[in-house]
Amino acid sequence: MGMMTAEQYRESLRQVKPQVYHMGEKVESVVDHLAFVPHVNAAALTYEMALAPQFEELMTVTSHLSGDKINRFTHIHHSHDDLVKKVKMLRAVGQQTGSCFQRCVGHDGLNAVYSVTYDMDQKMGTDYHQRFIKFLREVQAKDLMISGAMTDPKGDRSLPPSGQKDSDLYVHVVERRNDGIVVSGAKAQITGAVNSHGHLVMPTAAMNKEDADYALSFYVPVDAPGVIHIFGRQTNDTRKCDCILDQGNADYGIVGGEALIIFDKVFIPWEHVFLCGEYEFAYELVERFATAHRQNYGGCKTGLADALIGTSLSLAQVQGTEQASHIRDKLVEMIHLAETIYCCSIACSCQGFPLPAGSYMADPLLANVTKLNVTRNIYEIARLAQDIAGGVIATTPSEMDLRHPKIGKYVKKYMQGVAEIPAETRFRLVRLLEAMTCGTALVESLHGAGSPQALKIMIWRRANIEHKKRLAERLAHIEE
Ligand code: SF4
Repeated sequence: MGMMTAEQYRESLRQVKPQVYHMGEKVESVVDHLAFVPHVNAAALTYEMALAPQFEELMTVTSHLSGDKINRFTHIHHSHDDLVKKVKMLRAVGQQTGSCFQRCVGHDGLNAVYSVTYDMDQKMGTDYHQRFIKFLREVQAKDLMISGAMTDPKGDRSLPPSGQKDSDLYVHVVERRNDGIVVSGAKAQITGAVNSHGHLVMPTAAMNKEDADYALSFYVPVDAPGVIHIFGRQTNDTRKCDCILDQGNADYGIVGGEALIIFDKVFIPWEHVFLCGEYEFAYELVERFATAHRQNYGGCKTGLADALIGTSLSLAQVQGTEQASHIRDKLVEMIHLAETIYCCSIACSCQGFPLPAGSYMADPLLANVTKLNVTRNIYEIARLAQDIAGGVIATTPSEMDLRHPKIGKYVKKYMQGVAEIPAETRFRLVRLLEAMTCGTALVESLHGAGSPQALKIMIWRRANIEHKKRLAERLAHIEE
C-alpha cells in the first residue's frame, strides 16, 4: 500500500487479467506486448515522477481522507492551488512524454463523481457519497490508475438513449439484484483503458426520465467477467512492432492508446454503484467531468508543445536554417500559441470555486474556452512545425533502409544536413516531428475531452448572453 513505483505499477498490471484484443488477436500481457509498451511507459511516468524529489510538490499531496501522502492523480481538489498545480503537473509530465499519459481522465472522473454523489445524497437521501469515499480511499491507498469511461457509441445521434433501436448503444442496467446491478453496452475511445486497474464509468450526456436506466455511474475492475477491450488503431501503429527510430517517440507513443470497452452483462456490486437511475444528475456529472478535463488541455498540450518547439528548433539547426528570421518568427509564434492555451488553463483554475462537497471545480466557461483554443492552436503549432521541418517529414526512407548494409550509406549521405551533425540526428528529429504532428496525434487535440461543437454548446450556456444584450441596450439608451 502507498505510492507505487513505475515498476510496481507494471507488476500490478501483470497481476490482473483483462480481456484485451489488438488487431484481431487476444493479448496475453499488455505490459509486455510491443503495441502497448509506449502507453504503459507514459502512464508509468506518472508514478515515477511522483517519487522524484524535484516533482514532489507538483505530483504529490496530502489526502483529505487519510492524511497520507498520495499521488496527485488520485487527489480531490480542495483549493485554487490544487487546481493550478494540476495544470502545472500535466505540463511537466507532458514535457517528458511528448505524448498523452492517460491518467488524468480517471482523476477528473474521481473529482466529478465525488462532488455529484454528495449533491445527490443531499437531495435524494441516497448514500452514494459514503460509498464513493470508501472506494476513493482504496484508490488513494493502492495508488490505482483508473480510466474515465464516459463516451458511449451513441448510435443514431438524433435519438436519445432510450430511443435507439439497439439499447446497448448506451451503457444501461439490464437487471437490478439485491447485491448489485447487471449492465450491458459499451464505452468508446477510452484513453488508457487497457493499462488501467479499473474503469470509472459515467453517463455521456443529459438524460430525461425515459433514459433513467442509462443514468449510470459505477466502478468496474479491468478484468471483471464480461468486460472486453478492443484496442484502437493509430497512425503508423505497425511501426511499434517492427522498428524503433521510425516510431519517432518509441518510449511514449503518439497518443494515449484508446480502446472500445464492451460490457456484456457485467455484474456490479452496489458498493461500486455511484449513480443508478437519478437521471436529473447526469448532466451535472457530465459538465463537472468535462470542465475538469477541458481545464487540463492547456496543461498537457503545452507540455507536448514545449517538446515540439524544441524539436523544431533542433531540426532547424541540423538543417542550417535556424538563423533565418522567418524560422525565428515561426518559433515565436509557436511559443505564443502554446503559452496562450497555458494561460487559459491557469485562468480557469484561478477562477474555480468550491462545491457543496467542499471540493473545487475550475470555471466551466473558461475551461471550455481553453479547450476550444486547443482545438485550433495545436493544429497551428503543428502546421508551423511542419513548415519549419520541410517535406522531409513525409518522404524520408525507413529505418530499415538507414541500417541496410548496401544502401544505408546513401540514406545517410543524402539525409545529411550541416556537416558537423550526424545524419542520424536529423533522421531522429524528422521522425519525432512526424509522430507529434501527423494523424492521430492531432485528432486527440480536436476531439479529446469534447469536440468543438460540444465546447460551443457549453460556452453558449455559460456566457450569460442576455447580460451582454442588456449592456448594449443600456449604452444605446434602448428602453426595456
Ligand atoms: Fe491527460 Fe492530456 Fe491525455 Fe487527457 S489528453 S488524458 S489531459 S495527457
